Amino acid sequence: MTLRIAEIFGPTIQGEGALIGEPTVFVRAGGCDYRCSWCDSLHAVDSQYRHGWAALSTEAVWDKVRQLSGGRPLTVSLSGGNPAIQDFGPLIALGRPAGYRFACETQGSIARPWFSDLDTLVLSPKPPSSGEEVDWTAFDACMELGAAARQQVMKIVIFDEIDYQWAREVHSRYADLPLYLQPGNPEVDPATPVDPQALADRLGWLTGKAMADGWFAPRILPQLHVLIWGNKRGV
Ligand code: SF4
Repeated sequence: MTLRIAEIFGPTIQGEGALIGEPTVFVRAGGCDYRCSWCDSLHAVDSQYRHGWAALSTEAVWDKVRQLSGGRPLTVSLSGGNPAIQDFGPLIALGRPAGYRFACETQGSIARPWFSDLDTLVLSPKPPSSGEEVDWTAFDACMELGAAARQQVMKIVIFDEIDYQWAREVHSRYADLPLYLQPGNPEVDPATPVDPQALADRLGWLTGKAMADGWFAPRILPQLHVLIWGNKRGV
């Protein structure tokens, strides 16, 4: 079993969503079936970066995770790209008996049986500003498999009013799924410093809208890693 891996790094803290603040090793898969207009992980998406991806056996990925974590179990986040393109089932099967917990974030376009073995499945359907269109049949298939995971949550990134209204509609369809909202970060170039006030303003705008509408179901969070490290990769 060979996996296309863009990077493995950590331990660091999870910067987003349900596991925010949790010590984590990230396994970033190479390749994605989407091309979101504001993707902040193009180095794991665009084939022009493919030469930097490694073809690693499952065992080699597991060895690296253990090495980075010093053999102390923590959460392993499978991200990308879209990790669901590849088969991470064998990696989960190696790590869970050793006490490691596995989370996966995917847009919900490809359903994988190994979703059932996860501790946390984060389904992150992309809003209209991404330029992508969600295949809700595929999304529902992901949800079905993720139902056996320890927890399944939804995360939506919001850039503008249209995204916000879309998120409300999506939430009305999936009202039982815990929902995390996150203001979008339009500055994705690792070399461009982020403006902390602009980040705070976007978070304030989103919070203000939800409160004014009496929409109290979602948790609204910043991207913690962007606040700490800006757009730097591998931290
Ligand atoms: S789904 Fe995620 S990784 Fe893929 S293009 Fe969109 S933002 Fe980037």
